[in-house]
Amino acid sequence: MNWITDKIEKIKQKAKKIFKKQPVAQETTDWKNCPQCKKISYKPDLFKNSYICECSFHFDMPPKLRLDSLFDSEYKFIEAPDINPDPLGFEVKDGAREGYRYMDKVKKYRKTTGQVTALLAASGNVSGLNAVVVCFNPKFGAGRFGPAESEHFLKAANFAIEKKVDIWIVVYQSSGIDVHTGLVGLAGGMTKSVIAMKQVKEAGIPTFAVAARAVSGGTYASNFFMHDFIIIEHSSVENLLFSGKRVTANILKGADAIPEDFGRADGVMKAGLADITLENRKKLKETITKLANIILKKQDLKTTDEAHENPEDFKKTASTAS
Ligand SMILES: [Zn+2]
Repeated sequence: MNWITDKIEKIKQKAKKIFKKQPVAQETTDWKNCPQCKKISYKPDLFKNSYICECSFHFDMPPKLRLDSLFDSEYKFIEAPDINPDPLGFEVKDGAREGYRYMDKVKKYRKTTGQVTALLAASGNVSGLNAVVVCFNPKFGAGRFGPAESEHFLKAANFAIEKKVDIWIVVYQSSGIDVHTGLVGLAGGMTKSVIAMKQVKEAGIPTFAVAARAVSGGTYASNFFMHDFIIIEHSSVENLLFSGKRVTANILKGADAIPEDFGRADGVMKAGLADITLENRKKLKETITKLANIILKKQDLKTTDEAHENPEDFKKTASTAS
């Protein structure tokens, strides 16, 4: 009867493969379902509206489009260094995928996103200011921060310092330090990124953190709060926390102790952990430009598109800042 058992096992494996493929197929459709208003939107329409639903829910915006929207025109990528993202050679052994190597997962992330690390870094002009922008990609392992990402972060920071850029911007969408890399990831992710941020600040470069989605774990606990300005992209952003509600409730011995707005944009603002929550992401470039010009005390103001329309407003801001 062994042949029957073998046959059943083969059918099981085939069924598993079919079911695994479904989410990928769903991802390739031209439609997106809004988790807030439940409306189904056509992706090209969302693209035109900066990936914002009619109800104001902010979908993830692909990092490349984010760079396109922040930079004035052309920009240059700061390529990822050649670092092994899986120094421990970690194997996932969760039964269903026994023998599945973590490196295979990384390869999948690379294929899906076209990126080498979870970061996309580039230099160019933002409203006429020299800038380095680093952007996490949530589609790359939920914005994991491992040894390769920390080296990429460091490389971008060194570039910013060497070129003496005007501003440094990091757009966060990160689940934290990559657990598959153990202490190597922790030491690299947290320590190196903290050193990188410290050096950027010592070079006198104003720094901006943009929370575009969840920022948690080691990313939240290290470089995120080192920025001069913490900007939350929209009031719907949540999970700005070190660990989730359940874990925190266990530590505090009861969910009652956890406020309703824990980790939400409004809660984070109330706790004084962020500086501003934007009406929507279309205001991001303009807001960063205004703040940067105030810090840099530019008399000869660099202007955004809006500034061209209202140059007097910007002059007033500059004179107040001086
Ligand atoms: Zn919606």
